[in-house]
Parts: sequence; structure tokens; C-alpha cells
Amino acid sequence: MSIPIVAPAGMELALQSRLEQNARLGDRTKYIGASEIGSCLRRVVLSKLYPEPFDRASMGRMLAGKAMENEVVQLVRIALNGRLRNTGRAQLEFKHLTLPLVAHPDGTVLGGIAWQDGDGILEVKTAGAATFKRYQNDGLPTQYLDQVQAQMGLSGFMWALLVLVSRENLSEMTTFTIQFDPEHYARLEVRAARAMDVSTYNIQNDLPGEPERGFCHTCPYAANCTAFQCLRKAGESGEVAEVVRLQLECQMDELTTLERELEPLQDRTAELRDQIKATLSAYLINRVVLDGGVLQMVTSTRTSFDSKSLLRDTPDLYARYLKTATFTNLRVTTSKGASCQSMAS
Ligand code: SF4
Repeated sequence: MSIPIVAPAGMELALQSRLEQNARLGDRTKYIGASEIGSCLRRVVLSKLYPEPFDRASMGRMLAGKAMENEVVQLVRIALNGRLRNTGRAQLEFKHLTLPLVAHPDGTVLGGIAWQDGDGILEVKTAGAATFKRYQNDGLPTQYLDQVQAQMGLSGFMWALLVLVSRENLSEMTTFTIQFDPEHYARLEVRAARAMDVSTYNIQNDLPGEPERGFCHTCPYAANCTAFQCLRKAGESGEVAEVVRLQLECQMDELTTLERELEPLQDRTAELRDQIKATLSAYLINRVVLDGGVLQMVTSTRTSFDSKSLLRDTPDLYARYLKTATFTNLRVTTSKGASCQSMAS
């Protein structure tokens, strides 16, 4: 019998408050972080005005991502031969003089890098395997570029080193060196000013959603978001917005890769089960206690209903008790024609 592991009462709350009240980051409901300025502003502002608790999955992902970023900072420290400063507890904070825009870069790099002179900032990002490959091949998404441009604009550093790591494999790592672009930063200041007006005067209904910058499917403010409702309407008639298409492509890539990798494992588990059963049967062992657990041959009976015979012998009775249930399957067929496992929901 397996015993389910239940998180002790209060643990979830503790994790939640750890995410929300990182002492180094202050009260995040009072400002727009550099990492938020490139996201859908409507969602960002609403999350400050009407905070929603994180769901378990997002909470787990965020904490795992944070832990991994800390690991990566240590690797970068070694690679930079001691030229990395202001990481972890010594992280710096840069505030805009008039706008509620604040940056906390993951570190500062001393003494230039590649063709960049002077000191710069370090930002570490993690991504799922498929997303990692996409960014590696096609370049960074707007949100990441906005984040480092905001960090540079606020701190005065002229370049940034962004380290991107695959969440599934720490050795898959790539770096981007980004130069400060004053025009880009000026556009971000305009966004921060709009967010401030909306938060101050509570006029969030005037702030249009930006689906191309948001993850609408996980957004708690989607119900009355006109932009999202328009996307849904378009989806019903077969139109898929570019942002949704890109997201689905990344998810499908990751799903097909994982299922391909799982196949040999599933074959091997079935093989091992057969081998263990064969050994127990060969030695007439019913139960054996081992260091790692207990192996036991359990005989059980199952009574099944022969619906085919019922249909043949009494079709009227069969028809009377026939029930139709509707369920939806996800069928994934890759462009090479391979079909993946289907999930019923
Ligand atoms: S549903 Fe999408 S567009 Fe609307 S607020 Fe949320 S993230 Fe932004």
C-alpha cells in the first residue's frame, strides 16, 4: 500500500509568502519590477491591485526556477574567474527617480566581456527544453530584452550578459550579450508611466490586455479581458494567434521529446516486471522481504461483463441500458506523421 505524501498544513502558505515577500525585493505590490515591464501590463497591474494566490504548480515551478538560477550564478562565478559581484543577498536594487520601476539584476560583472568595456550586469533565465532551443536559435523574446534594457536603464550599466539555461539539463546553457539601447528604455518608461496612472487612479478597465505579452491561459484576470475574449472567438472559427501558435509549438515539441524518451523506460519497466514474476514463479516464492522492499505474488479474481453476448442474445435489453458518454481526447500527430499518446479529459 502506498502512503500519499501530504504537505503539512501551513507549508503551502509558507511557500506562498516566501514567494511574495522576498525581503530583498521589498513589497512587490508597490512597484513594477524590471522582469514585469515586458509582460501584459493589464495582468501586471491587476496582480498588484487584486493579488491572486499562486496555484501549486506555478509555485513549484517558480521555486525550482529560483533554486536553479542560484546554481547557475555559481557556475557563472567560476567561469568569470571572480569577476562576478552583487549576487544573492548582496543583490543590488536600482529605482527610477519618479516612476515605480525597480530592478534587481542577478549580479554585476566587473571589467568588460567580449567587445564590451566597463562593468555590466548579469541576468540568469531558465526555460523548458523546447523553449530553450527556440530562444537559442531564434533569439530572446521581447520580455527578456525589455527586462535587461530596464535593468541597464535604471542602473546606468551599458551592457548585460544574459545566461539562458535549459531546466531539464544544466549543461545546456547559452549566453547573449546585450547593449543598452536608450530608445528601447524610453519606451519602457512610457509603459511604466501608464502602469502608474492605472494603479494610482484605479482605472484598470482602460488598460487593454496584451495577449502577445501574456500567458492568457494561466491568467486569473482573463474572464473580463476583452483582448482574450477576442482571441477565443477567433479560435472558435479556426484562427490561431501567432503568440498561441508559438506557445503550442513549444509545448508540442517538449511533449513529443519527453514521450520519445519515456518509451524505452516503459519497455524496460514491463520487462523487469515480467522477469521478477518469472523468477518468483520458478522458485515457488509467494513473498520475499528484501532490503529495498517486499516482492509479493498477489492473486486476484475479476468478474467482467460480457456485453457482446448480451447484445447477441437480448439486443432490446442491451439497447435499454446503453449509455453514451462524451469525452475529449488530445491527439498529437507530428509533422513526420508519428502519433503521440492521447490524453482523455
Ligand atoms: S487574459 Fe491575457 S491579455 Fe488579458 S490580462 Fe490576462 S494576460 Fe493580459
